[in-house]
Amino acid sequence: MEKINELYGGRIFNVKDFTPSQLNYLIKNGSRLLEATVKKNNKLFCRRCLMEITKLPIPYQYCRNCINLGKISVNNQLIITPTDIKYPTQDQYLQWQGQLTTNQANGVRELLMAFKKHQDHLIWAVTGAGKTEMIFPLIEAALEDHQRVAICSPRVDVCIELFPRIQDVFPNTTVGLFHGKSEESYHQTQIVLATVHQLIRFEKAFDVLIIDEVDSYPLAGNEMLHKAIKKAPKTKGMTVYLSATPPQELLTAVKKGELTLTKLYQRFHGHPLPEPQCHLLFKNLNFFGINPRLRLKINQMIRHKQRFMLFFPQIPTMKSFAKQLTKLYPTLTFVDVSSKDEQRLAKVQRFREKKVQAILTTTILERGVTFKKITVIVLNADAVEFSKTSLIQIAGRAGRGKDSFDDEVHFYYQYYNRQIKQACAEIHELNRQARK
Ligand SMILES: [Zn+2]
Repeated sequence: MEKINELYGGRIFNVKDFTPSQLNYLIKNGSRLLEATVKKNNKLFCRRCLMEITKLPIPYQYCRNCINLGKISVNNQLIITPTDIKYPTQDQYLQWQGQLTTNQANGVRELLMAFKKHQDHLIWAVTGAGKTEMIFPLIEAALEDHQRVAICSPRVDVCIELFPRIQDVFPNTTVGLFHGKSEESYHQTQIVLATVHQLIRFEKAFDVLIIDEVDSYPLAGNEMLHKAIKKAPKTKGMTVYLSATPPQELLTAVKKGELTLTKLYQRFHGHPLPEPQCHLLFKNLNFFGINPRLRLKINQMIRHKQRFMLFFPQIPTMKSFAKQLTKLYPTLTFVDVSSKDEQRLAKVQRFREKKVQAILTTTILERGVTFKKITVIVLNADAVEFSKTSLIQIAGRAGRGKDSFDDEVHFYYQYYNRQIKQACAEIHELNRQARK
């Protein structure tokens, strides 16, 4: 570990990972040394993830909550590296040729106002509103103040997709991408892109913390990740939440005045969200191989060389459908992806590059991905895996291009249930608000 300064920035390490001389150096330069666990009300808590350690009949208790990030035992000590880092001044931070729409610009104004007041802020923007572009001026303002920024999402795919875009527009700023599967080991960068999980390894580390897709799995209902989001910003730092389908707790926080809010009903191209067309199937999806009613639609799309996404609730349903698809349409080119698929990113890329006509997927691609000129189809839309939020996000994959704003969305199901009804109603309502 030659460049030990590279480990700075509010990062939490286990002392046993350092040699005594490295440790001396870190402490001399402002790192804090702490016990790895704390006792409160006769309960034992982990100092890194702040979760309670449930006692086991063993001599040295350890934290099982954050064990994926390395074992922390009661007899360990932690070291937290300093955060007062001097970042170099640049002539121009943001190098972006694009232009914000009037709505985006209004949102940016509110966001920058919140930044000045160190106020936490929520951006509730419909899918395809261009919320990523809206954070560029915020990041720029933070960098100009020599501050440090983290952009996090619960979903690794979202981080991976964002990384090159951020590098592109901030070419002279150090940007790091950190997640469980990345090869890159921690080093100090002014912009950090990471999964929310990685925030467990930080304390009071960021001036601006941006959480994208705040309502998505696995963040929803995960206490440890919520604690990580709370402890990662500096005391005077701000947290920005981005979502097309914000969770109730954030909307409640807005009502209580703990959070300011920007709402964007309009997509960046000014056209409405495609509203789903609903189709009742009288028989199973796999009736006669592939349900004849659905086959009509597939035939039509193949005839028109229309590219399409098929969403499935579970991997086995998708796999057996894929088999039928190959059998019935031997010339159709497609890929299938799921969370368990090691080749996922490469396959998505093949679809993006139009090397295949269709992509079969689970909810793993419900957000964070943008394709143009595609028809979006949800199969078994009545399955429990498709929550209202999920259906809205999936429908939001369509119509994202300026020249294909009217892409079709279809929901196929056997039972018209509450999720489907609420998702359609909410999309309709968002469009109504956008017209106001
Ligand atoms: Zn822990």
